[in-house]
Amino acid sequence: MTMLEIIDKKKNSKELSYEEIKYVVNGYVAGDIPDYQMSAFLMTIVFNGMTFEEVYSLTKVMKESGDVMDLSDLGKIVDKHSTGGVGDKTTMIIGPIVAASGVKVAKMSGRGLGHTGGTIDKLESIPGFNVTMSLEQFRKQVLEHSIAVVSQMGNLVPADKKIYALRDVTGTVDSLPLIASSIMSKKLASGASSIVIDLKVGEGALVKDIEQARTLARYMVELGKKEDKKVICVLSNMSEPLGYTIGNALEVKEAMDMLENKDVPNDLYELCITLASYMISLGKDISLEEARKEAVSNLESGKAYEKFLDFVHVQGGDIKKITYAPKVFSIKSRCDGFVSNIHTLRLGELARKIGAGRYSKEDTIDFGVGFELRKKVGDFVYKDEELVRVYLNQKDVGVNEILDCFEIADTYHKEPLIYEVIDK
Ligand code: URA
Repeated sequence: MTMLEIIDKKKNSKELSYEEIKYVVNGYVAGDIPDYQMSAFLMTIVFNGMTFEEVYSLTKVMKESGDVMDLSDLGKIVDKHSTGGVGDKTTMIIGPIVAASGVKVAKMSGRGLGHTGGTIDKLESIPGFNVTMSLEQFRKQVLEHSIAVVSQMGNLVPADKKIYALRDVTGTVDSLPLIASSIMSKKLASGASSIVIDLKVGEGALVKDIEQARTLARYMVELGKKEDKKVICVLSNMSEPLGYTIGNALEVKEAMDMLENKDVPNDLYELCITLASYMISLGKDISLEEARKEAVSNLESGKAYEKFLDFVHVQGGDIKKITYAPKVFSIKSRCDGFVSNIHTLRLGELARKIGAGRYSKEDTIDFGVGFELRKKVGDFVYKDEELVRVYLNQKDVGVNEILDCFEIADTYHKEPLIYEVIDK
């Protein structure tokens, strides 16, 4: 077989065999297949899709391209994954809530990607917080503290690293078979027994449309079944930022506020409790109702906050040293009305522009910058009332650029927070 024959076959919408997919992926990782042929191959998938068998072969080959972790000796490990959004600080809240129930959270998280933030960057805004450790330290921490969150460890799924970087610059990110295999190969390689996926849908997410989200969810649930892992996909709204804050240190603060039972927006509270409930239910084999009671009780009793403090301390972080950007401005509404839309993608891009994210791998993040929404979709705002607070350091942003992210109208339509849950 040759790469050209395989590209032609997929171009003509014929089904590829496991062996052909393995030839492509392993050849690309080994450097035998050049970027231009791999780009053409990926583009045929974008246009012609893949059968489920092909998606499974791709996932399996990618998973097996590097180390596969075995954490089964640690007991049941429940993982959680978010497909990425704006203001998504859920891991920092859910992890401690779930660990406070004794369910082990052994999590590998990512950095920000494009306009979306990443848990690892957020945790690194806590001075001293260490996101790398050896596999032995990781295991020890999970056993002793029930929670560890680290950046990628070992040589996990090198195929995804290489293919994702190519997809990013060849317009081949938004393909459901490619997204499903990319996410699931990493989840299956990282040793969890079951996985709860927060599949974001809306303008600020990778998947903009509910039908596409359903298809992606079904692929991932089926891929899990093939490998004996339970996968639950919660389809959640990303047509406005989650919670009030966008930006690393600001998001850590909001996460701590929730763990300390301070006032946080309902969307953040409800999504975290829902995801934590699924995780506790899977980890302890109890009903969702019982699990929800535990999640709420862990939060209200302060057990979850204690767990958060313990987890941050053991990973070297010092919350007393968190700092925020020095220049703080209020952006005020120019008219009366309801906030009817927040252009989440644009706001995420502006957060990146002021330093909360990166344009290239080498960029450094300005942890203290970001936005604090004072109004969410459905809130009424008066003319000259504060709409959003901006935290700036070295980079500037125009007032109109920010105001353009908000639509104010006489009426509004609020999307549901959770569209549906797909687990079979
Ligand atoms: N997240 C991933 O890990 N992979 C994708 O392809 C898209 C989102």
